[in-house]
Amino acid sequence: MNYQDKDIKELKEYAIEENIPIMQDDGIEFLTNFIIKKQLKNILEIGTAIGYSAIMMAKTSNDIHITTIERDETRYMEALKNIKKFNLEDRITLIFNDALNVKLEGEFDLIFIDAAKGKNKDFFEHFEANLSLDGYIITDNMDFHGYVAMKEEDIPSKNILGIVRKIKDYTYFLENHMLYKTTIYKIGDGIAVTERRG
Ligand code: SAM
Repeated sequence: MNYQDKDIKELKEYAIEENIPIMQDDGIEFLTNFIIKKQLKNILEIGTAIGYSAIMMAKTSNDIHITTIERDETRYMEALKNIKKFNLEDRITLIFNDALNVKLEGEFDLIFIDAAKGKNKDFFEHFEANLSLDGYIITDNMDFHGYVAMKEEDIPSKNILGIVRKIKDYTYFLENHMLYKTTIYKIGDGIAVTERRG
């Protein structure tokens, strides 16, 4: 194991210990392979947590730049530390704010939505003007830990039920959008890949 693999392993262990949700292994594998295959270079991530997915995406190629937004101060500080540890300060720009308060200039060829699960549609609409013509929007946790497939009466809390309903609304929004087409993959916790229609 090289020193970077060891650092990644530690990062994942820290996330488990501190109960910080980061992408599942098959989800991150799908995401990084997608970035490599489509040669995506300028990426916006909503929801940094401690920087795991941003670091994994940046590591796919030396000419990738990630802008990533996190609203939780402790996680933001931890992400700053981790990005430094991987010497990626020049390729990952970290913004400490609520994403819905951030207005960005310029275009991204991938917008990766992985923040508050009930607000996917808000993030989509807030940042779609920043999507390049042939760009993609990827949204994680479309299955929301299996709850989306459950009967509503079996869902254990009102809070989770509220999020599930919003994810279902977002799925409907994506699948019936006039301007975009979406494929939802049963990988990781469910990953939606959206692009403009022909
Ligand atoms: N992408 C990360 C990874 O796989 O390593 C995991 C992100 S975690 C699932 C979601 C993060 O989004 C949390 O750290 C949370 O604080 C942050 N978040 C939630 N709503 C947000 C918002 N409106 N603006 C910015 N960050 C937000």
